[in-house]
Amino acid sequence: MTDTIIDRRNFYINGAWVAPAEPNDFDVINPSTEQACAVISLGGEADTNAAVAAAKAAFPAWAETSKEERIALLEKLLEIYTARAGEMAEAISLEMGAPITLAQTQQVGAGLGHMKTTIRELQTFEFDRPLNDRNPDNAVLYEPVGVCAMITPWNWPMNQIVLKVAPALGVGCTMVLKPSEVAPLSGALFAEMIDQAGFPAGVFNMVQGDGPGVGTQLSGHPDVDMVSFTGSTRAGVAITKNAADTVKRVALELGGKGANIVFADADEKAVSRGVARVFNNSGQSCNAPTRMLVERDIYDQALEIAAQVAEKTAVDIAANEGRHIGPVVNETQWNKIQDLIESGEAEGARRLAGGTGRPEGHDAGYFVKPTVFADVTPDMRIYREEIFGPVLSIMPFDTEEEAVEIANDTNYGLTNYLQTSDNERAQRIARRLRSGMVEVNGLPRGANAPFGGYRQSGNGREGGEWGIEEFLEVKSVSGFYDVPAE
Ligand code: NAD
Repeated sequence: MTDTIIDRRNFYINGAWVAPAEPNDFDVINPSTEQACAVISLGGEADTNAAVAAAKAAFPAWAETSKEERIALLEKLLEIYTARAGEMAEAISLEMGAPITLAQTQQVGAGLGHMKTTIRELQTFEFDRPLNDRNPDNAVLYEPVGVCAMITPWNWPMNQIVLKVAPALGVGCTMVLKPSEVAPLSGALFAEMIDQAGFPAGVFNMVQGDGPGVGTQLSGHPDVDMVSFTGSTRAGVAITKNAADTVKRVALELGGKGANIVFADADEKAVSRGVARVFNNSGQSCNAPTRMLVERDIYDQALEIAAQVAEKTAVDIAANEGRHIGPVVNETQWNKIQDLIESGEAEGARRLAGGTGRPEGHDAGYFVKPTVFADVTPDMRIYREEIFGPVLSIMPFDTEEEAVEIANDTNYGLTNYLQTSDNERAQRIARRLRSGMVEVNGLPRGANAPFGGYRQSGNGREGGEWGIEEFLEVKSVSGFYDVPAE
C-alpha cells in the first residue's frame, strides 16, 4: 500500500516519455482501500495518432532486422523483467488487488514464462520454408503483419501483455499497447523495461486510455494492420465491427464459463482443487471452471467439500502476504457480482457458502465472500453469465452424455475441465467438448501450448508457435528458389 499518489500521466511514444496532447487525468483506485493510489492520463486522438505514426515509421527497418537481433533484445528484456520482478509484483498488486504473494508468483511469473517460451520458439521458428517437393522453386515466407494495436484487460495484466508484445516484437511487428485503464501501472512499468532494453524508437509505443477513446481510435485506425484484443466479449464485438471498414486482422481472446466435470472415479482432491481454481485471483480469470458438474453418486459429498473450501478461503487486503484472496478489481465489478449472487438466490439456487455483502472484518475495499451455489439450473443467470468473482455454481449429472451436453450448453468455449481416472473416457469427452482447451485431472497446459477459445470466447490462439504465427502474414512466392529446369 502507498500513501503517495504515483504519477503515471505520460505515454511512451517513439522512444520517449511524452505528456498527453491534452490533459485528461484519471485516478487509479487501490481496490483494497477504495482510495486513489495513482493518476494516469486518458489519451485522445492526437496521442493515438502520434503513437500509430511512430509505429508505422519504425516498421520497415524493424521488419528487416534479423531474428537473432530481435531475440537478443528480447533476452535483454527478460533480464530486466527478472531484475525488476519485485516492482512489477507491487504494481500489479496495487492496481488490481492481487495479493502480493500471488502477484509475485503467478501474475509476474506468467509474463516471465511467456517471454522465455517465446524466445525458445523463435529460435527454431523457420520464417522461410520450401512449399513441397513437387514445386521445388516455391517458397512460403512468414512476414510480420505490420503495425499492431494491443488492447488488454486488468485481470492478469502481464500475462496478457507479454503474450502479445513478446511474439510481435520477435517477428518484426511494431505496436501500440493500450493497457486497461483500470490497471495501467504494470503496463507503464513494462514500457519502461522495453525502453531500458534498447528497442529502436517507435517499435513499441504505449498510450493509456479507455475503450471509447484510445481503444476505439486504435481499432478503427487506417494505419493499424492488426488488433490483438483480450477482454470481454462485448468489447470484442465492438472492436471487430470497428475494424471491419479497414479489413484489419482481429485476434480475440474473450470471456468464458468453463465446466468442470467431476466423475465418481475422480481423485479425492478433484473437488477441492476445482473450487480453489475458481477462487484463485478472486475469481477473475477467463478460464475459471465456474460450473462444476458432479456425478450424482458423489454429489452430496462434493457439496460438503466445496462449502468447506469456501468457508476456509481467507479474504484480505492485497498488500498482506499469504494465500488469501484479495478484493475484486473495482466498484463496477463488485456491484455486478452482488447482483449475480442475488439473482442466484432469487432464482432458487441453494446457497451453501458466502452470499451478498462484504466478508466480516472488511468495511472498505471491494471484497466479496467466497460463494458456492448448489442445484444450479440452465435457466439461471449464474449458469449462463460470466460472473468474474469468487462464485461457484454446482449441479448434478447422471450420464456422460448429459455431462457433455451441459458443458457445451454455453455461448462460450474457452476451457473445460475433466476429473476421472478412466483415461479412455477422458479422451472420448475431451474430443466432444467445444472449447479451445480441456484440462484433465488438474494437469497444467504445457508452457508452449496454444491458449484460446471457440465460439464467443474468441478466435485467436496465443502462446508457443501459434502465438507467433498470429502476428505473421503468409506469402507464397513461386520461382523463389533457383531450381534448374529439367
Ligand atoms: P473489457 O472488455 O471491459 O476491457 C478490456 C480492454 O478493452 C480494456 O483495455 C478496455 O479499455 C478496452 N475496451 C473496452 N471497450 C472497448 C471498445 N469498445 N473498443 C476498444 N477497446 C475497448 O474487459 P475487462 O473488464 O478489462 O476484462 C475482463 C474480461 O476479459 C472478462 O470477460 C474476461 O473473461 C476477459 N479475459 C479473457 C481472456 C482470454 O484470454 N480469453 C483473458 C483474460 C480476460
